[in-house]
Amino acid sequence: MNSISEFDSPPYQRAIQQLDRAAERLKLPQAIHERLRYPRRAMVVSVPTPMDDGRTEVFLGYRVHHNTVLGPTKGGIRYHPDVNLGEVTALAMLMSWKCALMGLPYGGAKGGVACDPARMSQRELERMTRRYTAEIILLIGPDLDIPAPDLGTDEQTMAWIMDTYAMTQGRTVPGVVTGKPLLLGGSFGRREATGRGLVYALYQAAKHTNLDLRSARVVVQGFGNVGGVAARLLWREGCHVVGVSDAKGGVFNEHGLDIRQLLAHVKETGTVGGLAGADSITNQELLELPCEVLIPAAVGGQITDQNADRIRARIVAEGANAPTTPEADRILEGKNVLVVPDILANAGGVVVSYFEWVQGLQFYFWRESEINSRLQELMTRAFKNVWSQAQRAGGDLRTAALILGIKRVAEGFEVRGFYP
Ligand code: NAD
Repeated sequence: MNSISEFDSPPYQRAIQQLDRAAERLKLPQAIHERLRYPRRAMVVSVPTPMDDGRTEVFLGYRVHHNTVLGPTKGGIRYHPDVNLGEVTALAMLMSWKCALMGLPYGGAKGGVACDPARMSQRELERMTRRYTAEIILLIGPDLDIPAPDLGTDEQTMAWIMDTYAMTQGRTVPGVVTGKPLLLGGSFGRREATGRGLVYALYQAAKHTNLDLRSARVVVQGFGNVGGVAARLLWREGCHVVGVSDAKGGVFNEHGLDIRQLLAHVKETGTVGGLAGADSITNQELLELPCEVLIPAAVGGQITDQNADRIRARIVAEGANAPTTPEADRILEGKNVLVVPDILANAGGVVVSYFEWVQGLQFYFWRESEINSRLQELMTRAFKNVWSQAQRAGGDLRTAALILGIKRVAEGFEVRGFYP
């Protein structure tokens, strides 16, 4: 393998391990396998940002296209202190498999800026976002690469990116980002799509394993766009959401938390901690709580060989990207824990992003009920495909999902042929 030191990072190495295992089972031709191990292009930019106190801070930003074989690239933009080229590249690769698995006409991309958005003002965030957009502008566009929100970014970030892009074009281009505010051509249901899609995947996982979700205890790590929505929808279905956490720690009540009360508490205090009628716990304790369903929906690398043995859930539904390491996967499989993998469980976001993109290209917008029912259809179909693949070939759902996703990309390469 070529050596670019950033590619030695653990997230990238883990993504390569997954690809290699699937490639072996698929008996991928060497040329295609080798090409899939590298991003098509990766851009590193510096993002000088005037701060409110008069200093200028230079942040490092990235945008990576993993491959473009099935269409323009698609993937989120992450603002987090740990963002680096290796992680962004790994996440771009995961996006390729995810889009292919879901049957979307996209390749995978990812981007991000290494910064701590919680410590920045809105004005600083806007200046940084606009400069970052200007730096990566050669790589984005409605038929080239379409960013979306991820960890630490939201609708407002997408509005700034769209506006910056629009200024260089002299016209409004809604299709350049998804996850925009409704007013600017966003889609109904996009904000909730990842959490909602996860719940649809979970319905299927429960059905296929004879688990009655209504009496199930659910634990959710991360109470943001993904975890917060999933927790609310599952609570509304009657599940007992017994534990929830954010970056500062978690709360627990064995009889179930009142998620409406929790949402009001978070709105007021900015964190789940200190909720009346609940015990405080650490994130580590949260992951090990007795429950039927565990939803890691925060950051990567949370379930590892150090704690997988103590996970007590029957189903782990991965809201976050890459929350489980390959070593932990093997331990969970040995304990008969069903892992619904990230590229399936959290695909609802990119599915509704696709709906938003299509609506933006046509300037014709659909009803929310239409979007949710199409989302449910795609999530259910993808789950069933993955389940059948796992039954047919043996092995876990992650391997099955990767095999289906990678196979589709590889077939695209084969049909297109090799450009010398
Ligand atoms: P978000 O910023 O809205 O929320 C993240 C939540 O995780 C917050 O509650 C935060 O406090 C918490 N958190 C951060 N670091 C933590 C830590 N070390 N331990 C515990 N909690 C921590 O982000 P989001 O959009 O909900 O994304 C969460 C995960 O889901 C990410 O891995 C992201 O890549 C993945 N994802 C998001 C989408 C989407 O549409 N937003 C789609 C697919 C996958």
